[in-house]
This record gives sequence, C-alpha cells and structure tokens, in this order.
Amino acid sequence: MDAVSKKLMPPTQPREFGFYVDGRFIPPGKREVFERASPGHDVPVTRIPKCTEDDLDVAVASARLAFEDRRWSGLAGGDRAAVLLKAAEIIRARHEEIAYWECLENGKPIAQARAEVGGCIGMFEYASGLARALHGDSFNNLGDSMFGIVTREPVGVVGLITPWNFPFLILCERVPYILASGCTLVVKPSEVTSATTLILAEILSEAGLPDGVMNVVTGSGSTIGQAMTEHMDIDMLSFTGSTNVGRSCVAASGKSNFKKLGLELGGKNPQIVFADADLEDAADGVAFGIAFNTGQCCVSGSRLIVERSVADEFAGMVADKLAKIRVGDPLDEQTQVGAITTDAQNRTIMSYIERGQKEGATLVCGGVQLDFGQGQYIAPTLFKDVDSDMAIAKDEIFGPVLTVQSFETVDEAIQMANDTVYGLAASVWTKNIDKALMVTRQVQAGRFWVNTTLSGGPELPLGGFKQSGWGREAGMMGVEEYTQVKSVHIEIGKRSPWVA
Ligand code: NDP
Repeated sequence: MDAVSKKLMPPTQPREFGFYVDGRFIPPGKREVFERASPGHDVPVTRIPKCTEDDLDVAVASARLAFEDRRWSGLAGGDRAAVLLKAAEIIRARHEEIAYWECLENGKPIAQARAEVGGCIGMFEYASGLARALHGDSFNNLGDSMFGIVTREPVGVVGLITPWNFPFLILCERVPYILASGCTLVVKPSEVTSATTLILAEILSEAGLPDGVMNVVTGSGSTIGQAMTEHMDIDMLSFTGSTNVGRSCVAASGKSNFKKLGLELGGKNPQIVFADADLEDAADGVAFGIAFNTGQCCVSGSRLIVERSVADEFAGMVADKLAKIRVGDPLDEQTQVGAITTDAQNRTIMSYIERGQKEGATLVCGGVQLDFGQGQYIAPTLFKDVDSDMAIAKDEIFGPVLTVQSFETVDEAIQMANDTVYGLAASVWTKNIDKALMVTRQVQAGRFWVNTTLSGGPELPLGGFKQSGWGREAGMMGVEEYTQVKSVHIEIGKRSPWVA
C-alpha cells in the first residue's frame, strides 16, 4: 500500500541490526545491545550492538587493507562515479524505509525526513560527478628544463563521527564526497540514531562498493568515538557535534598521530532583520529557522537581531507564527515539528528556558513541555528583553528557543551578530542590496542566507568560522578536504651538475 495513504505506526517489535565490517553485517553475539526508544512514542524501535574497541580495530584494519590494495582508490573516477550513482538509485528505491527509521529514532516529522532523504539522493548524484572532476594542477612556466604537476591523492582511512540531529543528511553530506576522493572509511553514528547509517552501508555494498571501503561501528561516543579520535591508523577524522567534543578531538589528534581533522561544531546563529525587509516573509523565515528540527540544528537561527523601529511589531509577528506551528506525532503527515531527540537534550532545553526567566528575560510564547500522552515535546519559545550576557543569548541551546535583541544602525547589527564565539551561519533580511552585502561581508559565518534561511544543496560547501570548526564539507571542497596535495617536479633533459 502507498505509505502516504495509510497512518504510519511505530513497529511492534524493535528492528535488530548488526554492525558492518568488510561488506557484511556482524550480529551482536555476546556484545551488549543498545535498545533505542522512539522519542515521539516511548516504544523500543531498534536494537544496535555496542561495539568494543577490538571491533573498532578490526573495522579500521579492514578499511586500511581496502585503501592500501587500491581496490577503490585505484579505480578511475568514472568507475567510482558509477557506484555512487547506483547508490543514489537504491536510496531512491528505499526512500520511504530510510525516512521511517530516521523519523522513529530521531523524532523528526516524517514529511521532513522524506525531504531530507530526497536531498541525500542529490548529494550522491552530485558527488558522483566530482569523482570524475577531481584533478590537480600543472605548472608549465618553470623554464625549459622543469615541469611541475600538483596531484591530489586520497588522505587514506577516514573516521567519521556523526551526531543524532540529522543522522542521514549529515552522513550523506560527507560519505559520497569521501568516497569520491578515493578514501576508505569507518563511520560511528550517534548511538541513539544508528539505523540509517547501517542501511546506507548495505546500500553501498549493493551498489558495488568493494568490501571494506565503508565500515560502520556502533556504540557510545565516550568509548568508540573517543577511541577513534586516538586511533593511530585513522588518517583523518571528520567530526560533527558539540564544541567540547571537537576540542577533545583536537587534543587526541595531537597526542596520537596528528590525524587531519574536519570539525563542524556548534553555532549561535544570528537572524538580522532590517525594517525595510518584507516583514511577513522574514517572520515566516525566522520561525522556520528556529523551529525546524525542533531547533536541534547547528545552523538554527537562534538569535533574532531586529531593527528597533519594528522590533516589537516583528517579535509579535514571529510569536504568532510560532504559536501556529503544528507540533506533534512525528509519524503524522501533518506534523511540522516533532519530538526532542534525547532525554538529556530535553532537560538541557528546559533548563535554559528556566534560566532565561531567572536572568530576567520575558517569555513571549512557548516555554513549556507539550503533553501528548507519550514522547517529549517542547513548544516553540520566544524570549524578549534579552541582554547579550544572558546564557540564552550566548550558549548553543539546540532547541526551539529564540531570543530577540534590537539595533539602531547597520554597524551595531554587525557587532551584535559577531558577538559570539561561534561563526557557523547567519541570515539577513532586507530589500536594500547595500545593507545585505555589507552585512554578508562583515559578519563572520561559514554559511550565509539573504532573504531566506536554512536552504542549501550539494553544490555549496558547509563549515564554520571561529569556534564552529575547521574545514568544509560538500561541494568540490568537500572532496578536496579528503585529499592531500603532492607537488611533483620533473626535470626535462639533463640536470646542470652540482659537483664539477
Ligand atoms: P556530542 O558532541 O557528544 O555528540 C556528537 C557525536 O560525537 C555523537 O556521535 C557522539 O556519540 C560522539 N561523541 C560523544 N563523545 C565523544 C568523544 N569523547 N569522542 C568522540 N566522539 C564522541 O553531542 P551531544 O549529543 O552530547 O549533544 C550536546 C550538544 O552538542 C548539543 O546540545 C548541541 O549543542 C551540540 N551538538 C551539535 C551538533 C552539530 O550538528 N553541530 C550535533 C549534535 C550536538 P554518542 O551520541 O553515541 O555518544
């Protein structure tokens, strides 16, 4: 039956997974098993093995062998492209299944999960072209006796640690690009959202990816994740998650093998609204920017910075929008905002809401848990009378909590936007091109939106300024990140002798 025409329900039994090494699923055996309950329904939905550090070593050895014998890196770009394109086709065929498990483990609405899987197909298709387009450079201007070429080579074995907020999307913003470069990899998804990563491993094998090129180890961050950061045989680590763990990745790299790092960390992203903006459009965008994925989004627009002359009116417009958002059962087709993914995150968000009130900010709307009889839900929340030194204005809350502050001049707006340790993303809303460009140039952020927010695709690179991270994912840069550069000097004819 067509999935959209029937009411989706959680499974009656949790789905059992093994972890994935050398092209096959390995059942849990005697290992501990982690049972994940749907945060929207409080029923167990998946059971995933807790891998040991020995399992990690086996997975890394498999990726190492697959890299060294060149079963993947030795292929022509066109052959790697064919596998990525085939994977895109299989993801399209299993679209509904992936969206379902993503929705159950994460708590995001099914309609959103479907759209994200659609975006992931595009990532694979685009990265397949990049497998063919990746190239180096040449220098034909070094004189008659010298020719220079610059080649790009895959970095080697990549460790990929992904978070729980966009388990499949963040994975697909990285995996096809890593594979396009010729690297092999070991992935550790968040323990609470491992299902769709394991499904992708199976899909890639079916698409023709040689065994050992992509391996998935499951388990907690503090054991398997930490061991990956310290592993002597992982050449590069791509980590997406909290700034604190990002910091420990840097320390572990220095203490182990100086593995190259790609880090996408936190954000406290400004939404700058000028009085000359299309305020209706901007209010809708600002509401979307903070409530999408329950605000559990590194690029959420969590700080509204609005021109003083329209600040009260605009805050009211945003509050009206937030109050109308349909929060509820992630499996309901009509839901716009689903459940908070983890108990810990739910507690963190509620504690910030309490702290905001204690610090003197005024709650305009939301601020409460919503009771649907099951699951954990928080109403989209807006605070006004906010000072820059309040925790709700400074810290990444990672929830549907928006603060409003106001400015008089363009310079003041820029200064407020930059008043954060982060630099991941920013949005500006104005019909004045000069203001839009001035703000875009001077606000420090790796991703910028003008008169929109949270849009994107496979072409443009992602990443942060300041403490939001290092490196870029996606786009051509997302492939180049996983390469290292070799300069080759070629003498033409005989060298002039050094010893006479
Ligand atoms: P973490 O940074 O702990 O988790 C992100 C990933 O890192 C998960 O796969 C996690 O595994 C893993 N991990 C955890 N500890 C370690 C470690 N010591 N070494 C290596 N990997 C590790 O984020 P949290 O889940 O604790 O969320 C806390 C806060 O982090 C959020 O409130 C939010 O502010 C921020 N965050 C930002 C994200 C982003 O997209 N930039 C994504 C997620 C969180 P496991 O989950 O299995 O423990």
